[in-house]
Amino acid sequence: MVKTDFGPPKYLDMMSDLCKRNYGKWKYHEVLDTGTLVHVSESGEKLYTVRAATPRLMHIDTVRAFCDLADKYCGGFFRFTSRHSVEFLIEDEANIEPLKAELHAMGYTPGGVGNTISNMLHTQGWIHCHTPAIDASGIVKSVMDEVFEYYKEAKLPARLRLALACCLNMCGAVHCSDVAIVGVHRVPPKVQDDKISKMCEIPNVVAACPTRAIRPEPAKKSVVVNDERCMYCGNCYTMCPAMPIFDPKNDGAAIFVGGKVSDARHPAMFSKLAVPYIPNEPPRWPTLVKTIRLLIDVYAKDAKEGERYGEWINRIGWEKFFQVTGLPFTDKHIDDYIFSVPTFRSTATFKW
Ligand code: SF4
Ligand code: SF4
Repeated sequence: MVKTDFGPPKYLDMMSDLCKRNYGKWKYHEVLDTGTLVHVSESGEKLYTVRAATPRLMHIDTVRAFCDLADKYCGGFFRFTSRHSVEFLIEDEANIEPLKAELHAMGYTPGGVGNTISNMLHTQGWIHCHTPAIDASGIVKSVMDEVFEYYKEAKLPARLRLALACCLNMCGAVHCSDVAIVGVHRVPPKVQDDKISKMCEIPNVVAACPTRAIRPEPAKKSVVVNDERCMYCGNCYTMCPAMPIFDPKNDGAAIFVGGKVSDARHPAMFSKLAVPYIPNEPPRWPTLVKTIRLLIDVYAKDAKEGERYGEWINRIGWEKFFQVTGLPFTDKHIDDYIFSVPTFRSTATFKW
């Protein structure tokens, strides 16, 4: 094939010979323990996977250390999952335990396989992105420290997938994770009239707003926001840095529950709003961490074997969900936003 200078390299080039030989022929997989999987092919060949959570933002020395482990035990092959776990792909069963021991020694505990919490899928947060309402890595560290036992031991009725997205753009798979944190802004953007004509393309800004809340103000070479129509999504700020939307007093986190991708037993599900707002409390976000812990503990106790979070809620009913968790059901849970007919029809919140 002609080599090009754009696009990702072809994935087949990065597979081990064993993976190439068995491509499309994997028959089944088994969970060996909370840190190890085995995949078995039609040919009988086996591939073992050791999984461990990483903090996503890693020093180059850590990545090099992972590469060294992969060279030593895996013929140089490892990968990162979309939930930021590192997975070592092992052909020789005898290498599993020594690899795990070295991972442990580096401070990485194998886990997240089977009926556990796997690593938390998350986005960029304050460290990198421009629109976050909450931090990502700081909250993930605080939450994972609190629920670590559910990561190491298979104590849950089914797998539980956590996610975090730091704004409504949802770079994290929040709508289809069992328990998810979403950063929310709660005030409209502040228009900086003096900067806008120098920094922004006004037609683009107007077009970026999904609710048509922005109209041009030609006299000032600026725009005006209709606060009633604004849903605080931050799209305009993505287009135009002269319309900042962040607000330390009002930004915070919402919690959604009950989403899943898998269609085993029950079709895939979107999550719904459980907690509309918890303020930012860096560096350890105690209220948010406590609420996530509560949501997981109640599910662990109440759900039947094999039941995913949303399946459990569907069985007991949303009214009962708010009763058993003790979370208040407020007017903020109800979608009464009347300006957008399409989102009103497809909203993930409860309808008025
Ligand atoms: S979710 Fe929003 S704030 Fe977070 S990384 Fe994505 S675009 Fe940026
Ligand atoms: S925050 Fe979203 S809804 Fe509000 S004005 Fe900007 S683009 Fe429109």
